[in-house]
Order: sequence, then structure tokens, then C-alpha cells
Amino acid sequence: VSAAPPVAEVLTIGDELLSGETVDTNASWLDARLEAWGWAVHRHVTVPDDVDAIAGALREAAARARLVIASGGLGPTDDDLTLEALARALDVPLVEHAETWARIEARFARLGRVLTPNNRRQARVPRGAEVFANEAGTAPCVRAELGAASVFVVPGVPREMRHLADAVIAPRVTQPGPRLARRTLRTIGLGESRLEHELRDVVAGWPEVRFGYRTLGLENHVKLATVRPELLDPVEAAVRGVHGAAIFGRDDETLERAVVERFTRAGRTLAAAESCTGGLVASRIVDVAGASRVFVGGVVAYADTVKTRLLGVDAATISREGAVSAAVAGAMAEGARRALGADHALATTGIAGPDGGTPTKPVGLVYVALAGPDGVRVEELRLSGDRAQIRAASAAAALGLAWRMAVDSGY
Ligand code: ATP
Ligand code: MG
Repeated sequence: VSAAPPVAEVLTIGDELLSGETVDTNASWLDARLEAWGWAVHRHVTVPDDVDAIAGALREAAARARLVIASGGLGPTDDDLTLEALARALDVPLVEHAETWARIEARFARLGRVLTPNNRRQARVPRGAEVFANEAGTAPCVRAELGAASVFVVPGVPREMRHLADAVIAPRVTQPGPRLARRTLRTIGLGESRLEHELRDVVAGWPEVRFGYRTLGLENHVKLATVRPELLDPVEAAVRGVHGAAIFGRDDETLERAVVERFTRAGRTLAAAESCTGGLVASRIVDVAGASRVFVGGVVAYADTVKTRLLGVDAATISREGAVSAAVAGAMAEGARRALGADHALATTGIAGPDGGTPTKPVGLVYVALAGPDGVRVEELRLSGDRAQIRAASAAAALGLAWRMAVDSGY
């Protein structure tokens, strides 16, 4: 049993983070880093470019946490107030830091840029603070002790923030001792509630492993976390014992990668005929490095005329069954297989919305099909969400179909 990790907080500063203009990626990036350095992040706070708000937030965070990382507000303009706020929180004056000023002068000379009086602001730091040069920009990284907390202030520009976090902060704050080791097992074709329910004995059997569940489109992920990394392999084996047939990959392994790997191993080729997905299936497959060994090409067959002329779908089938039908999906897949000369071909056809639905064929009705030497498989889906979500889920379902078939065929 290990002691709980020390507590850190992240403070992000900037009007643009509170107006919907900028997504606060610094906070989430720092969360992941802090965890890797052995800290538990208990809170994020975001404040506007306002001295009182920043000083107040720094004091409050320092009263709760042992480490505070604040990003933003270190620029040369009047709205960059973080160092002034830190000085106020520390109750010390701002003093010019000669070395920082010299670095700023040298940087401007090197880049052929003209210094303006406000650049001098960036060299003024709270008296007694520790200053670290920024190799990636002008504003330095500053550290001060505020109460019992160590406060680091870094620029908001993500590239500079990341550089300083890794180069300056990490070596000074990284904790000894055990880390949370994590693993994600990715499934498709299994509902979240069933996934969790059938794992209850496994969960009970491994009290030192924390289980979490997350849905990503059609995928459901099992997330494992433990301070004993040697448990991850046996727990994964136990989870596979229950849900092995639905697990296509772990951590960053995508469904398309699992498909490409299995087809590559078996020496089989794949094509696509896409209506509602408009190329998403092909695009996801081509995202995988090495897809050329598997993927021969695709047809975006949006209009009925393209379905009939390029894929040889029977016009009578379309008028009898409708373009969104199991029969047309299957015929598209067979047609693509023939026309493109692949071992297997995927097809999608559906109603992505927001218009075009009818009582019998509502928005979200999608058919995906896979044709191969042994015939055609078709799957009917009733998807929900907006147009983009329905199209993305349709592409995922098609890839899931290819993966399932590859597993069943021993690819
Ligand atoms: P400087 O970069 O001049 O030192 P600064 O530290 O205040 O000043 P800003 O000028 O506020 O940085 O922001 C610079 C860029 O970084 C802007 O594009 C801004 O949107 C982006 N940025 C700032 N904070 C964050 C954040 N928390 N997450 C993502 N991007 C951010
Ligand atoms: Mg700013």
C-alpha cells in the first residue's frame, strides 16, 4: 500500500479561455504530466486577465495544494498581469531581473525585431522569485514559495508552456515512488452496461485495480489503473476471458489498425463503396501506415446513378427496396468487390439527417455490408445523434464488421 500522491492544482489565465474563443488544452496537458510526475490534480481554476482575480486564485490554490502551475498572462502587453498578481499574492514588489532583460534584448537583436518599452515588463519578476530562462520564447518561467506551496508560472503559448514544463518543472517536482499504471482495452459490438455487468466477478477479484468505462462512438473502453503495473497483464487476461471476442485493441490501437493488421497478416485485400459515409471508411483505413498492403480503393456512390453505373446495383432493387436498404447495401458491397478487384468490400448506405427521414426509414437508419468470397453480411443500425455523429458511427460500424469477419475467418 502506498501513500496518496501529493496534491497539485492548475490555474489557467486568460480572457480568451472564458469567452469560448480558446479551448483550455494547457490544463488537460498539465493534468496528464502531473499524474506522470506523481501528483494528484484536485482542481483546475480559470480566471480572466485581472490582477485581483489572479492574485486571489493563486492564494486560494496555494492554501489547498502543495504545487500550483499557472499558465498565461506573461506577455508584454497591458493585459498580461500574472507576475504582478504573483507579487501581490507574495506581498513583495516587482523588480527587474537583469539576466532576463539581457536575454530579451539578445533575442530581439538575433531575430532583427525592434524592442518597445512594454517588452521591459516581461523582465520584471516578484522579488525573491526564482527565474528560469525560456529557450522557446521571451517570457521566463518563474517559481516562488507561496505559503506551503511551490508556485510555477509559465507562458500560455502551448508550445512554450510544454517546453518549460518538461525542461524546468518536471526535474524539480517529480515524486519518487509508484505511479498509476494505466491500460485501456477497446471493444466494439458490446453495450456499456453488459460490458460492465459481465465483468463484476473480475472487478471483485482484483481489488488493487481500478476499473473505469468510457464510450467513444460505437466503441466501449475498459480502463484499468493500478499502482502495481505487474497486475495489468493478468487483469487483461481475465477481462479477455469474459469479453475477448469484442476486444480489438488496447491503448491507442484503433479499429482501423486492427482491421489493417488482420488483413495484412492474412494477405487479403479490402475495398469500400460508401454512400452516407462519403469516404470516411476509406479515410480511416488510409490513416493507418501500411494500409496500401490491404486497401485497394473506394467509390463514393452517393447518387443512385453511381450505385447502378459504377457498382452495378440493379436499378429495380433501388426502386423496390429504396437506396437505404439491406438489399442495396449488400449489392453495393458485392459490386465494389467485383469492380475494384478486392477479396472483400465494405458498403454503407443510410439516412444521416437532419432531413430525409420517414416514419418507416427514420434518420439514423443505416445499413453496413461486407462482401467476400463466402457471401455478404449486412447489418442494420439505428443510430442517434447529429449528422456528423451518425456518419462517424456508420464508418465505425463498417470497420467493426470487417474486424469481426476477420476474427471469425481466422485472419
Ligand atoms: P505570452 O505568450 O506573450 O507570454 P501569455 O502567456 O499571456 O503571453 P497569451 O498571449 O495569453 O499568452 O496566449 C498566447 C497564446 O496561447 C494564445 O493563442 C492563447 O489562446 C494560447 N493559450 C493561452 N492559454 C492557453 C490555454 N490554457 N490553453 C490553450 N491555449 C492557450
Ligand atoms: Mg494571456
